[in-house]
Formats: sequence, C-alpha cells, structure tokens
Amino acid sequence: THFGFTQVAEMEKEALVAGVFHSVAAKYDLMNDLMSFGIHRLWKRFAIDCAGVRPGHKVLDLAGGTGDLTARFSRMVGDKGEVVLADINDSMLKVGRDKLRNLGLVNNIRYVQANAEALPFPDNHFDLITISFGLRNVTHKDAALASMFRVLKPGGRLLVLEFSKPTQPLMSKVYDLYSFNVLPRIGQLVTQDGDSYKYLAESIRMHPDQETLKSMMENVGFEEVSYYNLTQGVVALHRGYKF
Ligand code: SAM
Repeated sequence: THFGFTQVAEMEKEALVAGVFHSVAAKYDLMNDLMSFGIHRLWKRFAIDCAGVRPGHKVLDLAGGTGDLTARFSRMVGDKGEVVLADINDSMLKVGRDKLRNLGLVNNIRYVQANAEALPFPDNHFDLITISFGLRNVTHKDAALASMFRVLKPGGRLLVLEFSKPTQPLMSKVYDLYSFNVLPRIGQLVTQDGDSYKYLAESIRMHPDQETLKSMMENVGFEEVSYYNLTQGVVALHRGYKF
C-alpha cells in the first residue's frame, strides 16, 4: 500500500541519517571547513548575531551536533543561563561534548539525546531555539517545528539556519556541480565515505525553499516569520517568534 511504502521510506531515511552522522562524526568539523571553505563559520556567526541572547537565557541548540553554536551561546548566557545541546545521534553528541569540555565550557551546558520531532522538554521553556543545518535531516519536519513551537516561551524566537535555494541561476549551476561532483569526492578522500556526502547533496536539493519553509513555520504558529539569504541563497536564515 501507499502507506506501507511511505513508512518504509521514512524508516530508511532515519536509518540513513543515523548512519551518515555516526560515520562522519569524528571528522565532521574538519569536513565542514573543507567543504564550505570555512564559510560555515560566517553563516553561523550571522545566526548568532540574530539570536538576541542575553545573560540568564535558556537556549536550545537543536540538532546541535559538535556544538559550534552551543560554544558561543554558553559564553553569552553566563552562569545563570543554560544551553541545551540536543541531538539524536550519540556519536555527534560525544564529539561535541569532548570538544566543549576541552574549551573549558562545563558549567551551563546540558547534553540531551533527543529527536527533534518529539522534544523531551516542558512547554514554554526556552527563550531561543536554533537548528543549524539540522532540519533537512529530520523526517517529519512539520512535527519537529510544532515541537519547537511548544517548548519555546511566549516572546521566544526560533532560528533555522539551513541550505536553501540559490537566488541566481549561475550560482545555482555552480553549486549543483560542486555539491554533486566535488563534494562526494572530498568526502571520499577525507572520510573514505563518499556515499554519506552524496546523501548530503541530495538532502540539500530536496529541502524546502525559502518561501516554503516560511509557510511551514507559519502553519505551526510562528509569527513575524522572515528570512535572510546568505551567499546568494545557498543558505538561508529563517526567524520566527512565538507570541
Ligand atoms: N548544528 C551543527 C552544525 O551546524 O554544525 C550540526 C549539524 S549536522 C549537519 C546535522 C545534525 O542533525 C547531526 O548531528 C544529526 O545527528 C542531527 N539530527 C538529524 N536528525 C535529527 C533529529 N530528528 N533530531 C535531532 N537531531 C537530528
């Protein structure tokens, strides 16, 4: 049946995503720098600048992986605040926890293994939720967005940093060539796992474009949703509020 087929496809996606991140965890940070020429650092910095984090805030860095954003937020929220680094994948969480501990960040960070689709936190809890390069890996994106809305405090904001649709045709061509031809080869060379990076390119192409994601956020209740294109739409930062 159609239902059966969808279920199998969804289970396969979850298993595939789990396999990809178990496989790349150890070299994840290195690969990010190589593949994006270090530009992912600028995209993340832009997101942090839009986060409005203050001392004492409770922040959820969802699908936080190796904790790049958590590290910055931990310094911003101070001793009275808290950052929760949540990820579905224990290999990624472990690499993240080791990295943050080595940076001396220990006081205000909590590590939680969780699925974005069913967050194990109380209602109205966080001042800010970020999901950076995570949403495209989630099978039920609407369920995940609704779950984020639930655990966000009234007045809180959600930031979604994610690959998106390039706005210029030339950039679109170059980018397609790069992600389908160059990227899996770099992945193969560095991690001996070209297939995981093929998945990455495919997941980027499948991900909803700027306007679609904006509507998806509005549909679960987010208000004043807007987005910024970064690097000509290769990446977009969406922001929405819960009032
Ligand atoms: N946020 C980090 C960054 O920007 O560098 C890591 C991004 S990494 C590309 C994607 C992360 O999403 C992985 O660590 C993966 O385990 C996590 N992930 C995938 N599906 C998830 C889900 N359903 N719930 C929570 N995390 C998930």
